[in-house]
Amino acid sequence: HIFGEERLNSQGMNLNIESESLPFLQELNTFATQQWQAGPLIDGEIYSGEAASVTSPYDRRQTVGSVSFADQAMVNRAIEKANQAFPAWNATLVSERAACLTRLADLLEQHREELIALCSREAGKSVQDGIDEVREAVDFLRYYGAQSQQLMAPQVMPGPTGERNELHVQGRGAFVCISPWNFPLAIFLGQVAAALATGNTVLAKPAEQTSLVAFRAVQLAHQAGIPKAALQLLPGSGATVGHWLTSAENIAGVCFTGSTATARLINQTLANRQGAIIPLIAETGGQNAMIVDSTSLPEQVVQDVVDSSFTSAGQRCSACRVIFVQEDIADRISELLVGAMEQLTIGDPNSIKTDVGPVIDESARDGLLKHGEWLKQHAKVIGEMTLPPCCENGTFVAPLAAEIDHIGVLEKEQFGPILHLIRYKASALDEVIEQVNGTGYGLTLGIHSRNEGHAQQLAERINVGNVYINRNQIGAVVGVQPFGGQGLSGTGPKAGGPHYLTRFITEKTFTNNI
Ligand code: GLU
Repeated sequence: HIFGEERLNSQGMNLNIESESLPFLQELNTFATQQWQAGPLIDGEIYSGEAASVTSPYDRRQTVGSVSFADQAMVNRAIEKANQAFPAWNATLVSERAACLTRLADLLEQHREELIALCSREAGKSVQDGIDEVREAVDFLRYYGAQSQQLMAPQVMPGPTGERNELHVQGRGAFVCISPWNFPLAIFLGQVAAALATGNTVLAKPAEQTSLVAFRAVQLAHQAGIPKAALQLLPGSGATVGHWLTSAENIAGVCFTGSTATARLINQTLANRQGAIIPLIAETGGQNAMIVDSTSLPEQVVQDVVDSSFTSAGQRCSACRVIFVQEDIADRISELLVGAMEQLTIGDPNSIKTDVGPVIDESARDGLLKHGEWLKQHAKVIGEMTLPPCCENGTFVAPLAAEIDHIGVLEKEQFGPILHLIRYKASALDEVIEQVNGTGYGLTLGIHSRNEGHAQQLAERINVGNVYINRNQIGAVVGVQPFGGQGLSGTGPKAGGPHYLTRFITEKTFTNNI
């Protein structure tokens, strides 16, 4: 069956329905002080080395567990094992591989509270974001499982009489998956699921900040029947484990989500290594804009801006960084925005009242604060929240909105709760389009307009991967809103879309003159 025709998306949960949320929150609370351990998992065996303590970005005095990072010998061993395991996994029936992914999806749902608690404590995710995270991971597993069964079926090609032509599809080999901390379960498992569904074995390197979530996910994957040798986990930094993996000769492809700068580095490493020329699938950053004209509904605009810019503490690559507002309504939007910001609750990600949790770590916080200082000197601050006392032991950044003149003053993506506003004259729309396209990024675009022709024109002329009209611009749904960008924002194909798996496969044509 095709994902999307039947309802296969996971349902998530409505926290406002008490009969659902109360038992869930009680269960969640049982993990409030649990400690987790992680280390390299090579052929299912846990390797230990020097262990680092993991603390919560909400409060650095709270420990969450400890993690050992992989050394180079472990990475080499895992590469060898993943290559040895490839022929058998590649020869496994595609329906059996998909069944493993479906079982893993069921296990995630069974362990939902633990995983949400872990996302909250290790990555600072709010409860709602945690619910959405598990839901998206489940969706990726089911979707790629279903898609692989369509894609991998051999096709008889039309041809001259007397010859039989068939196109077969198979995995490429040992695939490297390098995932980010902002979706420690969903993107981690999305990449892994795509590679496994298509017959590859996997060398997974999660972001070092979220090794515990990844470790738990791999344990559940093995429990679901994915062979231990087909999925190897190598926690560590990009500069060490990431580099050792991407410079190795015997890898078959790299799937990466993270910064544009790191994607370039990986591209260079791949170009300089020995071995086959292999694909890189990169999903990177954005300088995402929302364009708001005077026919829009200001209250709805502000709600959607707050969702797009400040929830998840602005740590989504889809998040809105710049709103272009037609000057006639700019004062009204600014005023409403300040009011809406004052309503936000910032603090403990584990409380369901919290709208904005911490950012991931000190280095992220310091970079954002530095940009905030720059804005205070060079731009006009529209509104800034103050941090409540409960935030003082964590890595928090207070949501900030400031007015600037041109998108070009932003040298790079600011991955946090900082929003920029630019006024434009109705007659200068072409210039707005040039500004947005001029960034070179092309991930998400928001448009607020009741003038359909106008919205359509913007949607067509701005080079992005995902356009959202009259709504927020985050939270793409697997199988419904295939997600990913162009230009500096990534190579495509889109995650959660019908073409994603094609980059993980290799094709073979059989011509038989019978
Ligand atoms: N897919 C996510 C969304 O639509 C963003 C993914 C990311 O931040 O990498 O919001």
